[in-house]
Amino acid sequence: MPIRERYSAVPSFWAATANPHPDLPLLDRDIETDVAIVGGGFTGLTTAHYLARSGVDCVVLEANDAGWGASGRNGGMAVLRYKCGWAALARDYGADTARLMFGALHDAIDSLQATITEYGIDCDFSRCGHITAAHGVKPLAALENDVRWLEREMGYEGASILTRSQTRRLTGTDEYVGAFLERRSGALHPLNYARGLAAAVATRVPVFVSSPVEGYRREASGFVLHTPRARVLARRIVVATNAYTGVFPLPNDLARRIVPVPSNIVATAPLPQSVVQDILPEGQIVTDSRRVNLYFRLSPDRRMVFGSRGHLSGSNEPWAFSHIEAAMRRVFPTLRDATIDYRWNGRVGFSLDYFPHVGSAEPGVYYAIGYSGRGVVLTHMAGKLLAAMLRGEAVDAGPLTQEPFKPIALHALYPLGIRLYTAYYRLLDARERTR
Ligand SMILES: Cc1cc2nc3c(=O)[nH]c(=O)nc-3n(C[C@H](O)[C@H](O)[C@H](O)COP(=O)(O)OP(=O)(O)OC[C@H]3O[C@@H](n4cnc5c(N)ncnc54)[C@H](O)[C@@H]3O)c2cc1C
Repeated sequence: MPIRERYSAVPSFWAATANPHPDLPLLDRDIETDVAIVGGGFTGLTTAHYLARSGVDCVVLEANDAGWGASGRNGGMAVLRYKCGWAALARDYGADTARLMFGALHDAIDSLQATITEYGIDCDFSRCGHITAAHGVKPLAALENDVRWLEREMGYEGASILTRSQTRRLTGTDEYVGAFLERRSGALHPLNYARGLAAAVATRVPVFVSSPVEGYRREASGFVLHTPRARVLARRIVVATNAYTGVFPLPNDLARRIVPVPSNIVATAPLPQSVVQDILPEGQIVTDSRRVNLYFRLSPDRRMVFGSRGHLSGSNEPWAFSHIEAAMRRVFPTLRDATIDYRWNGRVGFSLDYFPHVGSAEPGVYYAIGYSGRGVVLTHMAGKLLAAMLRGEAVDAGPLTQEPFKPIALHALYPLGIRLYTAYYRLLDARERTR
């Protein structure tokens, strides 16, 4: 059986406006391959794309449809920032590492764009720019440090600070005291990107849907992976299941290395011109600087798409979205009467250091997980890194590829941990807020 939530149970705006899903087969006969990729989201598909390009034999095994997980339900924000700011990154990991990671991130969005162009994927990709909006003077000071670091160390002119009035003009809200504008960031329709990538990759390597890997075992020649109808004999495995790792208990400890945290999004009905003309007039996407952050953008048909930390139950019932709708109406008072057309959620895979981790869990078993809500660009970087690792090349992406990346102590208590941290972070965010 495919995993619990069927795709049809995710009533997202993206699903309602998506291109038809590609007609992909399910695995119904035993096969052999070099690399079996478990998970058909951005990570698995990008890895397959780069492996196929290098002539490495691989297959993708997806439990549901391509893009069923977070990849098809996210905010579609291709953000050129790690969770940790640039100046803090240089302070904590050294300037060389921060420079390396700057280069890797920009390379990843350029490669993502090149892939969309190469395959002609119809997913509304644009380099619209991203705003990190500061909820107080302290976070704004950190953003100012980032701009100074980028100018000094990278000679980069794509980022700048917005004053309070510039922020108000570009976002359409008076909520923020200033902001960091990154002009090279982009946006896309995430489900159309996932489906387009799956269709394109499937012309090069087999992509199987409705084919959950229910377990695997090591044998002398590699691994035998079990799906409901057939087996795969593979020399190596890539686990690309991120926050949905552990839905099927595979014989490794990867599910315990990250924490799955729900994120909820709402989309309004198309907004009247009189309302929308003052909101995001230049089309940027926004994430704010809160620890429990708010993120928002307009859809191509002028809906407000607004998200934040979700309800732990993972419920899709309207009550589980009331805090997000309240936040949206507070940030944008002109949306007080806006109808909500879509409510949906998904799981974000958080690592303890907020970086994704790419590596090998045991001989022959590779992974890339823990994007911490920044996966649109970082999955592309991870897919490239995984393909390089599988070709036997040395890789270095700073903390993304450094060991140790271990199981989290007392992992089973994570629902309680999320509650406590969310309450604590909300308190810190409220104390930092400057009007
Ligand atoms: C609501 C929400 C909003 C977000 N917004 C943004 C954003 O705006 N910008 C950004 O950069 N990031 C965002 N993210 C994060 C981003 O979506 C993820 O980091 C990224 O999609 C992870 O991709 P993935 O391929 O690793 O995992 P997923 O897309 O989650 O794919 C994992 C796949 O594995 C499959 N699977 C699981 N177990 C098995 C098994 N045993 N066998 C076969 N298949 C299996 C699942 O069915 C699933 O399709 C958001 C996430 C959410 C949930």
